[in-house]
Amino acid sequence: MKIVIVTGGTRGIGRAISLEFFKEGYKVIAIYQGNERAAQDLKEEFPNIEIEKCDISDEKEVSILVNKIYKRHGKIDCLVNNAGITRDGYFLMMSNEKWNSLLNVNLTGTFNVSRAVLRFMKVKKLGGKIINISSTSGVAGQIGQTNYAASKGAIISLTKSLAKEFASDKINVNCVSPGFIETDMTASLKNKEMISETLIPLQRFGQVEEVAYLVTFLASEKANYITGKNFVIDGGMIND
Ligand code: NAP
Repeated sequence: MKIVIVTGGTRGIGRAISLEFFKEGYKVIAIYQGNERAAQDLKEEFPNIEIEKCDISDEKEVSILVNKIYKRHGKIDCLVNNAGITRDGYFLMMSNEKWNSLLNVNLTGTFNVSRAVLRFMKVKKLGGKIINISSTSGVAGQIGQTNYAASKGAIISLTKSLAKEFASDKINVNCVSPGFIETDMTASLKNKEMISETLIPLQRFGQVEEVAYLVTFLASEKANYITGKNFVIDGGMIND
Protein backbone atom coordinates (compact mmCIF):
# COMPACT_ATOMS: atom_id res chain seq x y z
CA MET A 1 0.00 0.00 0.00
CA LYS A 2 1.31 3.47 -0.88
CA ILE A 3 1.87 5.92 1.98
CA VAL A 4 1.03 9.61 1.55
CA ILE A 5 1.41 12.50 3.99
CA VAL A 6 -0.91 15.48 3.43
CA THR A 7 -0.14 18.60 5.49
CA GLY A 8 -3.25 20.60 6.35
CA GLY A 9 -5.05 17.42 5.38
CA THR A 10 -8.13 17.71 7.57
CA ARG A 11 -9.73 20.86 6.16
CA GLY A 12 -10.40 22.59 2.84
CA ILE A 13 -8.30 21.61 -0.18
CA GLY A 14 -6.15 19.31 1.98
CA ARG A 15 -9.18 17.34 3.17
CA ALA A 16 -10.29 16.77 -0.42
CA ILE A 17 -6.75 15.64 -1.30
CA SER A 18 -6.71 13.23 1.68
CA LEU A 19 -10.07 11.76 0.59
CA GLU A 20 -9.06 11.39 -3.05
CA PHE A 21 -5.89 9.49 -2.08
CA PHE A 22 -7.94 7.38 0.35
CA LYS A 23 -10.40 6.48 -2.46
CA GLU A 24 -7.41 5.45 -4.60
CA GLY A 25 -6.27 3.00 -1.90
CA TYR A 26 -3.41 4.94 -0.29
CA LYS A 27 -2.68 4.91 3.45
CA VAL A 28 -3.24 8.60 4.22
CA ILE A 29 -1.64 10.50 7.09
CA ALA A 30 -3.36 13.88 7.41
CA ILE A 31 -1.57 16.55 9.44
CA TYR A 32 -3.35 19.47 11.09
CA GLN A 33 -2.33 22.16 13.54
CA GLY A 34 -5.15 23.31 15.78
CA ASN A 35 -8.67 22.84 14.44
CA GLU A 36 -9.72 19.86 16.58
CA ARG A 37 -13.31 19.88 15.29
CA ALA A 38 -12.25 19.38 11.65
CA ALA A 39 -9.74 16.68 12.66
CA GLN A 40 -12.33 14.85 14.77
CA ASP A 41 -14.94 15.01 11.97
CA LEU A 42 -12.54 13.44 9.48
CA LYS A 43 -11.50 10.76 12.01
CA GLU A 44 -15.13 9.83 12.74
CA GLU A 45 -16.08 9.66 9.06
CA PHE A 46 -12.90 7.88 7.89
CA PRO A 47 -11.34 5.96 10.81
CA ASN A 48 -8.72 4.44 8.49
CA ILE A 49 -7.17 7.81 7.73
CA GLU A 50 -4.40 8.51 10.27
CA ILE A 51 -4.57 11.97 11.76
CA GLU A 52 -1.58 13.67 13.37
CA LYS A 53 -1.25 17.04 15.06
CA CYS A 54 1.92 18.98 14.22
CA ASP A 55 2.94 22.58 13.65
CA ILE A 56 4.91 22.41 10.40
CA SER A 57 6.81 25.58 11.29
CA ASP A 58 8.38 23.74 14.24
CA GLU A 59 11.36 21.79 12.92
CA LYS A 60 11.61 19.51 15.97
CA GLU A 61 7.91 18.60 15.97
CA VAL A 62 8.12 17.81 12.25
CA SER A 63 11.21 15.65 12.65
CA ILE A 64 9.68 13.61 15.50
CA LEU A 65 6.44 13.07 13.57
CA VAL A 66 8.04 12.11 10.25
CA ASN A 67 10.36 9.68 12.07
CA LYS A 68 7.32 8.12 13.76
CA ILE A 69 5.45 7.79 10.46
CA TYR A 70 8.48 6.19 8.75
CA LYS A 71 8.97 3.73 11.62
CA ARG A 72 5.29 2.77 11.55
CA HIS A 73 5.01 2.28 7.78
CA GLY A 74 8.59 1.56 6.67
CA LYS A 75 8.43 4.04 3.78
CA ILE A 76 6.88 7.29 2.57
CA ASP A 77 5.82 7.30 -1.11
CA CYS A 78 4.30 10.73 -1.42
CA LEU A 79 4.15 14.09 0.34
CA VAL A 80 1.68 16.88 -0.33
CA ASN A 81 2.80 20.20 1.16
CA ASN A 82 -0.63 21.77 1.33
CA ALA A 83 -0.78 23.53 4.73
CA GLY A 84 -0.76 27.29 4.39
CA ILE A 85 -2.08 30.50 5.89
CA THR A 86 -2.86 34.06 4.84
CA ARG A 87 -2.02 37.20 6.86
CA ASP A 88 -3.19 39.87 4.43
CA GLY A 89 -2.36 43.56 4.71
CA TYR A 90 -1.10 46.42 2.57
CA PHE A 91 2.68 46.42 2.29
CA LEU A 92 3.45 49.68 4.13
CA MET A 93 1.31 48.49 7.04
CA MET A 94 2.71 44.97 7.01
CA SER A 95 4.01 44.20 10.51
CA ASN A 96 7.11 42.09 11.02
CA GLU A 97 4.90 39.65 12.91
CA LYS A 98 2.57 39.19 9.90
CA TRP A 99 5.53 38.81 7.56
CA ASN A 100 7.53 36.38 9.72
CA SER A 101 4.65 34.22 10.95
CA LEU A 102 3.42 33.67 7.39
CA LEU A 103 6.87 32.86 5.99
CA ASN A 104 7.47 30.50 8.92
CA VAL A 105 4.41 28.41 8.07
CA ASN A 106 4.14 28.61 4.29
CA LEU A 107 7.81 28.51 3.31
CA THR A 108 9.83 27.23 6.27
CA GLY A 109 7.07 24.71 7.03
CA THR A 110 7.31 23.36 3.49
CA PHE A 111 11.11 23.19 3.88
CA ASN A 112 10.87 21.40 7.26
CA VAL A 113 8.49 18.68 6.08
CA SER A 114 10.17 18.21 2.69
CA ARG A 115 13.64 17.79 4.21
CA ALA A 116 12.43 15.35 6.86
CA VAL A 117 10.57 13.26 4.26
CA LEU A 118 13.25 13.43 1.54
CA ARG A 119 15.88 12.00 3.91
CA PHE A 120 13.81 8.81 4.15
CA MET A 121 12.72 8.77 0.49
CA LYS A 122 16.36 9.00 -0.64
CA VAL A 123 17.61 6.28 1.72
CA LYS A 124 14.77 3.90 0.82
CA LYS A 125 15.63 4.17 -2.91
CA LEU A 126 12.01 3.60 -4.01
CA GLY A 127 11.62 7.00 -5.64
CA GLY A 128 8.69 9.18 -4.66
CA LYS A 129 6.44 12.11 -5.40
CA ILE A 130 6.22 15.53 -3.78
CA ILE A 131 3.46 17.95 -4.69
CA ASN A 132 3.62 21.49 -3.29
CA ILE A 133 0.57 23.74 -3.16
CA SER A 134 1.37 27.29 -4.23
CA SER A 135 -1.13 29.86 -5.51
CA THR A 136 -1.87 32.14 -8.45
CA SER A 137 -0.73 34.93 -6.08
CA GLY A 138 2.72 33.35 -6.18
CA VAL A 139 2.75 33.46 -9.99
CA ALA A 140 1.05 36.77 -10.74
CA GLY A 141 1.27 38.70 -7.41
CA GLN A 142 -1.64 40.19 -5.48
CA ILE A 143 -2.38 43.53 -3.79
CA GLY A 144 -2.48 43.12 0.00
CA GLN A 145 -0.75 39.76 -0.18
CA THR A 146 2.96 40.57 -0.54
CA ASN A 147 3.88 38.14 2.26
CA TYR A 148 1.66 35.36 0.92
CA ALA A 149 2.70 35.92 -2.72
CA ALA A 150 6.40 35.95 -1.75
CA SER A 151 6.00 32.66 0.14
CA LYS A 152 4.10 31.04 -2.73
CA GLY A 153 6.51 32.30 -5.39
CA ALA A 154 9.35 30.84 -3.32
CA ILE A 155 7.52 27.51 -3.16
CA ILE A 156 7.50 27.39 -6.98
CA SER A 157 11.29 28.02 -7.09
CA LEU A 158 11.84 25.49 -4.30
CA THR A 159 9.87 22.96 -6.37
CA LYS A 160 12.02 23.53 -9.46
CA SER A 161 15.28 23.25 -7.51
CA LEU A 162 14.22 20.14 -5.57
CA ALA A 163 13.09 18.51 -8.81
CA LYS A 164 16.58 18.94 -10.27
CA GLU A 165 18.39 17.90 -7.08
CA PHE A 166 16.37 14.70 -6.59
CA ALA A 167 15.71 13.65 -10.19
CA SER A 168 18.47 11.03 -10.04
CA ASP A 169 16.67 9.50 -7.02
CA LYS A 170 13.50 9.17 -9.14
CA ILE A 171 11.72 11.61 -6.86
CA ASN A 172 9.40 13.89 -8.85
CA VAL A 173 8.61 17.30 -7.38
CA ASN A 174 5.80 19.40 -8.82
CA CYS A 175 3.65 22.32 -7.83
CA VAL A 176 -0.06 23.10 -8.09
CA SER A 177 -1.18 26.73 -8.01
CA PRO A 178 -4.90 27.20 -7.41
CA GLY A 179 -6.81 30.40 -8.06
CA PHE A 180 -9.99 31.06 -6.05
CA ILE A 181 -11.23 27.82 -4.48
CA GLU A 182 -14.26 27.45 -2.17
CA THR A 183 -12.77 26.88 1.31
CA ASP A 184 -12.63 28.54 4.75
CA MET A 185 -9.73 30.63 3.38
CA THR A 186 -11.97 32.34 0.83
CA ALA A 187 -15.22 32.18 2.85
CA SER A 188 -14.84 35.71 4.20
CA LEU A 189 -14.46 37.33 0.76
CA LYS A 190 -17.41 39.70 0.43
CA ASN A 191 -17.28 40.20 -3.34
CA LYS A 192 -17.29 36.59 -4.58
CA GLU A 193 -19.84 37.18 -7.36
CA MET A 194 -17.98 40.22 -8.63
CA ILE A 195 -14.67 38.29 -8.61
CA SER A 196 -16.25 35.40 -10.51
CA GLU A 197 -17.87 37.64 -13.11
CA THR A 198 -14.97 39.99 -13.74
CA LEU A 199 -11.80 37.98 -13.09
CA ILE A 200 -12.53 34.33 -13.81
CA PRO A 201 -13.32 33.29 -17.41
CA LEU A 202 -15.09 30.14 -16.16
CA GLN A 203 -17.20 32.49 -13.99
CA ARG A 204 -16.98 30.56 -10.71
CA PHE A 205 -14.69 29.58 -7.84
CA GLY A 206 -13.11 26.13 -8.09
CA GLN A 207 -14.15 23.17 -5.97
CA VAL A 208 -11.67 21.48 -3.63
CA GLU A 209 -12.10 18.16 -5.45
CA GLU A 210 -10.98 19.76 -8.72
CA VAL A 211 -7.61 20.55 -7.12
CA ALA A 212 -7.43 17.09 -5.53
CA TYR A 213 -7.85 15.34 -8.93
CA LEU A 214 -4.80 17.20 -10.28
CA VAL A 215 -2.73 16.39 -7.19
CA THR A 216 -3.51 12.66 -7.27
CA PHE A 217 -2.73 12.58 -11.00
CA LEU A 218 0.70 14.12 -10.32
CA ALA A 219 1.25 11.50 -7.59
CA SER A 220 0.38 8.65 -9.95
CA GLU A 221 2.66 6.66 -12.24
CA LYS A 222 0.94 8.34 -15.19
CA ALA A 223 2.93 11.46 -14.25
CA ASN A 224 6.35 9.79 -14.01
CA TYR A 225 7.85 11.99 -16.75
CA ILE A 226 6.64 15.26 -15.19
CA THR A 227 8.91 17.03 -12.70
CA GLY A 228 9.82 20.60 -11.72
CA LYS A 229 6.60 22.02 -13.15
CA ASN A 230 3.95 24.37 -11.84
CA PHE A 231 0.31 23.71 -12.78
CA VAL A 232 -2.13 26.61 -12.49
CA ILE A 233 -5.75 25.64 -11.81
CA ASP A 234 -7.78 28.85 -11.79
CA GLY A 235 -10.68 28.77 -14.26
CA GLY A 236 -8.54 30.66 -16.79
CA MET A 237 -7.84 33.67 -14.55
CA ILE A 238 -4.13 34.46 -15.00
CA ASN A 239 -1.63 34.32 -17.82
CA ASP A 240 1.13 32.09 -16.50
P1 NAP B 1 -7.71 26.22 4.91
O1 NAP B 1 -9.11 25.76 4.64
O2 NAP B 1 -7.51 27.48 5.69
O3 NAP B 1 -6.89 25.03 5.60
C1 NAP B 1 -5.56 25.21 5.91
C2 NAP B 1 -4.98 23.93 6.46
O4 NAP B 1 -3.61 24.14 6.81
C3 NAP B 1 -5.68 23.49 7.74
O5 NAP B 1 -5.80 22.09 7.75
C4 NAP B 1 -4.72 23.94 8.84
O6 NAP B 1 -4.77 23.16 10.03
C5 NAP B 1 -3.39 23.73 8.15
N1 NAP B 1 -2.33 24.52 8.78
C6 NAP B 1 -2.24 25.86 8.87
N2 NAP B 1 -1.13 26.20 9.56
C7 NAP B 1 -0.50 25.05 9.89
C8 NAP B 1 0.70 24.72 10.61
N3 NAP B 1 1.47 25.68 11.14
N4 NAP B 1 1.03 23.42 10.76
C9 NAP B 1 0.26 22.44 10.23
N5 NAP B 1 -0.88 22.67 9.56
C10 NAP B 1 -1.26 23.96 9.38
O7 NAP B 1 -6.90 26.44 3.57
P2 NAP B 1 -7.24 26.00 2.05
O8 NAP B 1 -8.03 27.06 1.44
O9 NAP B 1 -7.72 24.60 2.02
O10 NAP B 1 -5.76 26.09 1.43
C11 NAP B 1 -4.91 24.98 1.35
C12 NAP B 1 -3.66 25.39 0.59
O11 NAP B 1 -4.05 25.87 -0.71
C13 NAP B 1 -2.89 26.53 1.25
O12 NAP B 1 -1.51 26.34 1.06
C14 NAP B 1 -3.34 27.75 0.49
O13 NAP B 1 -2.39 28.78 0.52
C15 NAP B 1 -3.52 27.17 -0.89
N6 NAP B 1 -4.43 27.94 -1.75
C16 NAP B 1 -5.74 28.09 -1.41
C17 NAP B 1 -6.58 28.82 -2.26
C18 NAP B 1 -8.04 29.03 -1.96
O14 NAP B 1 -8.69 29.74 -2.73
N7 NAP B 1 -8.62 28.40 -0.96
C19 NAP B 1 -6.05 29.40 -3.41
C20 NAP B 1 -4.70 29.23 -3.71
C21 NAP B 1 -3.91 28.48 -2.87
P3 NAP B 1 -6.02 23.37 11.08
O15 NAP B 1 -7.21 22.76 10.39
O16 NAP B 1 -5.61 22.62 12.30
O17 NAP B 1 -6.15 24.84 11.26
